[in-house]
This record gives sequence, C-alpha cells and structure tokens, in this order.
Amino acid sequence: MRAQPKASHFINGVYVEDTAGTPIDIVYPANGELIGRVHSATPSIIDQALAAAQAAQKAWARTSATQRGRILRKAADMIRERNRELSTLETLDTGKPLQETLVADATSGADALEYFGGLAASITGEYIPLGDDFVYTIREPLGVCVGIGAWNYPTQIACWKGAPALACGNAVIFKPSETTPLCALKIAEILIEAGLPVGLYNVVQGLGDVGSALVSDPRVDKVSLTGSVPTGKKVYAAAGAGVKHVTMELGGKSPLLVFDDADVEDSVGGAMLGNFYSSGQVCSNGTRVFVQDGILPKFLDRLAARTSAIRLGDPMDEETQMGPMVTEAQMDKVLAYIEIGKAEGARLVTGGKRAMGKNGFYIEPTVFADVTDDMRIAREEIFGPVMCVLSFSEEGEAIARANDTEFGLSAGVFTKDLTRAHRVIAELEAGSCWINTYNLAPVEAPFGGVKQSGVGRENSKAAIEHYTQLKSVYVAMGSVEAPY
Ligand code: NDP
Repeated sequence: MRAQPKASHFINGVYVEDTAGTPIDIVYPANGELIGRVHSATPSIIDQALAAAQAAQKAWARTSATQRGRILRKAADMIRERNRELSTLETLDTGKPLQETLVADATSGADALEYFGGLAASITGEYIPLGDDFVYTIREPLGVCVGIGAWNYPTQIACWKGAPALACGNAVIFKPSETTPLCALKIAEILIEAGLPVGLYNVVQGLGDVGSALVSDPRVDKVSLTGSVPTGKKVYAAAGAGVKHVTMELGGKSPLLVFDDADVEDSVGGAMLGNFYSSGQVCSNGTRVFVQDGILPKFLDRLAARTSAIRLGDPMDEETQMGPMVTEAQMDKVLAYIEIGKAEGARLVTGGKRAMGKNGFYIEPTVFADVTDDMRIAREEIFGPVMCVLSFSEEGEAIARANDTEFGLSAGVFTKDLTRAHRVIAELEAGSCWINTYNLAPVEAPFGGVKQSGVGRENSKAAIEHYTQLKSVYVAMGSVEAPY
C-alpha cells in the first residue's frame, strides 16, 4: 500500500500501534485504490497520549518563549523544504490536485508555525498601576489541548491548531478525521525533528468516538474542533460539561454579493474560487452567489464558459485544476443535492454529473441559476462543487436575504463603489469577509464564524486569547488595613 504510515498513532515522540483498534482503510479518492490502513485508538492508546501530553506540558510552559518559537520556526522551514513530499501526501489523503496542495496546504501550515513561532516571545501579561499598589497579569497556557480535524485540509488544520497551542506553552493531542489520517503524522514527525520535546504533539487516529473520549477526559483543558455544525454542537456540549475552553470552526452557507458595477471577470473568478477550490470542500465557500439584475446575464455567460473549461483529472498532474471528492459517500451526498436542486426547479447552467469514469469520486463543477432562497440547495451546506446563483435588485434586499441563515462563517462583496463595499460588509453577519476577492485566509488575519458557524478565532494574534488564560496578581505595597 503506497501510503502506509509506519504506525497509526504518534505518541511521546514515536510511532505507536495497537491493532486491537477498529481498522480504518485509507482510500485514494482519484481511483478508489486502498493506499493504507490505520487502526482507531483503543482506550489504552488514548490514555498513553493523554499521559504523555500531561507529563510534557509543564516543562514546556517553563521553557523560554524564544526557544519555543525557535523550534516552531525550524519546523516551518523543514515543512517548506519538504513541500513537494508533503503536498503529494496531502493529495493522496484528500484527492485535491497537486496544483492546489503545492501552494495551499503544507505552505499554510508552515505559515502558522512561523507566525506563532515569531509571536511566542511577545505573549506577555500587563502591569496595571493602582497608586502605590499594582496588579500584574500572567498569560498562562491552558494545559492539554485537543484538536479535532475535518478532512478537507488535514495538514493545514493540524498546524493551525498545533502552532498557537504550542507557542503558548500547551501540549497537543490531534485527532485527524478518519478519512484523512496521514498528514498530521508527518507534522508530528517534523516537529520532533525540529527539536520539540516528546509528548507535546501527539496524533491519535479514530472516528467520532475517539474524539468524544478525548473531549470528555478530565485531563483535557481545551478542545478545538473543525467540523460540521451538528458535530460542533455535540463537542461543544461535551466540553461544556467539563467547563473546558473551546474553539469551534464549523460549517457555512456563505453569501457572495455581486453588484452591477463589479468587474465581471473578477467577480466570476472570485465566485469560482469560492465554490470550486478543493472540489468545493471548503467551509468558507461563498455558495450563495447573489448577483444584481443588471450584471446577471454577462456574469452567467462568463461563469458558464469558465466553469465548463475547468480541467478535471489526475490530481498528480500539475495541469489538473480539479480533483475528486474526498470519499464516495461525499460524492453521493453532493450528487443527491444536485438532484434535489433540479427537482426544486433550479436551472442547471453547467455540470451536474459524475465525471471521469467509475473509479474516482469526481463530480463536474456545477452551476445552478434561478435559485430561490427557500430551496434546500440554497439553505443547506452541500460541501461540494455546486454553486447557487440567485438574483437581486436592491442592496437592502440582498443584505437581508444574505443574512437569512443560521450560519455566519464568511461573506464577500464585489463592487467598485468603495462606500457601498464597507457599508454592506458592516451589515453582513459573518466572521470572515472579503471585498473584491474571496477565500484568502492568511495567518495574519483572524478566521472564524459567528452564529452557528463557530466560537472563537483561529490564526492571528486573536488565537493567543484562545490558547491562554490570564492570572491576575494584586501586589500590596503598604500594610493591610483590616477593619477587625
Ligand atoms: P464532521 O463534523 O463530520 O467531523 C469533524 C471531526 O469531528 C472529525 O474528526 C470527526 O471524526 C470528529 N467527530 C465526529 N463526531 C464527534 C464527537 N461526537 N466527538 C468528537 N469528535 C467527533 O466534519 P467533516 O470531517 O465531515 O468535515 C466537513 C465539515 O467541516 C463541514 O461542515 C465544513 O464546513 C466544516 N469545516 C469547517 C471549517 C472551518 O474552519 N470553519 C474548515 C473546514 C471544514 P470522524 O470524521 O473520524 O468521524
């Protein structure tokens, strides 16, 4: 099997196996080939990971922040040096084309390690003068942090959760999605090679039950999940039962508003990036594209032409622009939504079918026009290459319709009117927004959702708040005035 890892789990600096765990087959989505097999973590594996993390964390918290940062920055350099190898693994794990993984996955993970490595030594408390007395605060790590990942960005998610946690002095246990178990193991290996003491970054494989066991363990202080809203609700409730810190990066059905004065090619390009990158398996995708009446015919013309020219194919061929869906089940789910869209009366502009034969899990990039707000394809997260185009005439109407959803992850606006761009963005209920572009998520910018799309923020200085807690220390300089 061409991507078989050395063992299923990575604990205390070494690969660990326990074949008593349920086997998890690793399937290459481009051809259905079995490329590896891991085993779900048994209670003994989960216990080993928790014990290792707990044992290592205190010394790490006492290590100088400059030294902690240096290790993370070294890991970032090593990831960049091995970008091709890691990108190939990401492609095998997810089916995303190399054209994407070479620029968006390991590189984004390296950015997170470099950024938080650089920030580590600046994570400080403050001094609060109170006349002669004063208060100082200490920004302390939380302890053991559990990261649970979705399958769409296995390398990136492993780093986006690991980098800020480690920079702040925490230990990490990461559970990848059972669909994509490979990439996080490599990140764990690289961190050790970069000098991270053992026990601080552990990877355990498993299905939801393993995540659930980790979340409810009293040794865990924080849980950061990237996943769907239903899973988020379960994990949030389980973490709440133990009064644990949480970050929830959940799903979306984000709006993208294209006004009459927008540049046609730019807005079409933005909508395509926001719907077809990673075969549409991106949480922040702008899947409800609201297009103003005046620009709609031109927009649809160019969208249809450019979408039907997208090159589907072998993900390992760097000319390929779009790969398969991550699993057969995800492909079936998306194809079912396409049928729902047709039955609801949406107009299929292009795509709509399975592609590339029977072995891979490919779907043609699909555009529906004449979509209305009440259709299921406009309300539910599809998580595939299916764009819904809705028309609108007035700004206020578009804003109200865009906000009429329980989700609030992202939103975008295309317009040349500077004032309108900011006015509209201010009204949109979303955590991560774009003006005249879509889906760029640099590590310097906070990323996360409002409403049911999430709690907390990843990336940027804001993430530090979510991996530390404040200790406040009052210092008296005089004698104690007690009334007794
Ligand atoms: P899921 O919600 O199905 O799973 C997410 C992770 O949670 C997986 O590792 C899963 O394990 C685990 N899990 C499932 N049940 C439990 C439980 N009860 N306790 C603890 N852990 C559990 O999401 P998908 O993997 O299907 O990913 C797609 C979803 O992720 C989409 O909704 C998408 O929008 C969202 N997402 C959000 C992002 C964001 O940043 N906001 C980014 C990327 C994706 P297993 O899979 O092994 O069962």
